[in-house]
Amino acid sequence: MATHNLLLLPGDGIGPEVATEVEKVAAWFGKAGIATFNTEKDLVGGAAYDAHKAAITDAAMARAQGADAVLFGAVGGPQWANVPYHARPEAGLLRLRKDMQLFANLRPAICYPALASASSLKPEIIEGLDIMIVRELTGGVYFGEPKEIVTLENGEQRAVDTQVYTTHEIERIARVAFDLARVRRNKVTSTEKHNVMRSGVLWKKVVTELHARDYKDVTLEHHLADACGMQLVRWPKQYDVIVCDNLFGDMLSDVAAMLTGSLGMLPSASLGAPDPATGKRKALYEPVHGSAPDIAGKGLANPLAMICSFGMALRYSFGLADAADLLDKAVAAVLADGVRTADIAAKGQNAVGTADMGDAVVKALSKAAH
Ligand code: NAD
Repeated sequence: MATHNLLLLPGDGIGPEVATEVEKVAAWFGKAGIATFNTEKDLVGGAAYDAHKAAITDAAMARAQGADAVLFGAVGGPQWANVPYHARPEAGLLRLRKDMQLFANLRPAICYPALASASSLKPEIIEGLDIMIVRELTGGVYFGEPKEIVTLENGEQRAVDTQVYTTHEIERIARVAFDLARVRRNKVTSTEKHNVMRSGVLWKKVVTELHARDYKDVTLEHHLADACGMQLVRWPKQYDVIVCDNLFGDMLSDVAAMLTGSLGMLPSASLGAPDPATGKRKALYEPVHGSAPDIAGKGLANPLAMICSFGMALRYSFGLADAADLLDKAVAAVLADGVRTADIAAKGQNAVGTADMGDAVVKALSKAAH
């Protein structure tokens, strides 16, 4: 049985609570003889600041670089509002993303049939939804230079952000999208604004050429990013994989996320380039939600986003697609059985706590495995 090295960075607030539930799930896979996880733990965010006066230490960074995958909880909270800027909790996550060169952000939006009524859209539009937004994470307008506010001679101020993409940056994110589509429903929708942006013209050209060269077997379509936003709320099931730049991806992934209901349900992955020697990618998995200080320490948090983030690690870092399918099946079964944490409970429905939800997933894993 293969052993995989996992670095767990629970972080702050509800991070440690939901991380505990992942440890239960990982232990189940070991006991079931499916895979063993050599799990190390370290501090990040406010917890790291309290211990070391840094949002993440060099030693923790070295562990992250050496692990097969990093599983990150959440960081932040009001008690760290006044720490020095360079050591603020978010700096830990930003350093992880930057030093590990995680350029591809994967955000699945899946609607479990049992939760279809929790969406703000009609159940028939949302039920069975399974789409993947692939967002470029390290380039574009959030990082392009110049980036400044200058005062003009007439006293007015002028703000500039610069949208920049190179062929290489577009091609590597498009490759991630095409490769993912091949193991899903074989369709990629590329989004940009080529009608008004030069970066959109290049984006469309590079994606089209790459498709013709290496991915003819995948269906490719192009949508303007604003039209894609509309289509996401009109008929989201038309999509399989959507690939977008950093800015449009930021918005479209949040739109797609809310189609499915609660923040407590949403996992994500951030991947780097494959190592030329081993083919392995640096990878960090994290729930989309934050540290939820309002419910932290109360045992109320929904651990499913964190558990499903571990599921993404099974699939994309550990090569354990069958185990990932099993976990997805277990989560779907728990929801179908009516087990709900408070954030996903309907009016009048009983809610369970964090640990009970984790236990229910472990129980459902045993059932699904037989
Ligand atoms: P949040 O995601 O922490 O919480 C938003 C709301 O959703 C809250 O009402 C919370 O109780 C609820 N919620 C979130 N996750 C839940 C879960 N798993 N189960 C049940 N309910 C859940 O966002 P926020 O309130 O804007 O931010 C709180 C703190 O988290 C801030 O310090 C913020 O900077 C930080 N934050 C961190 C990350 C991260 O670590 N990646 C992301 C977003 C926000």
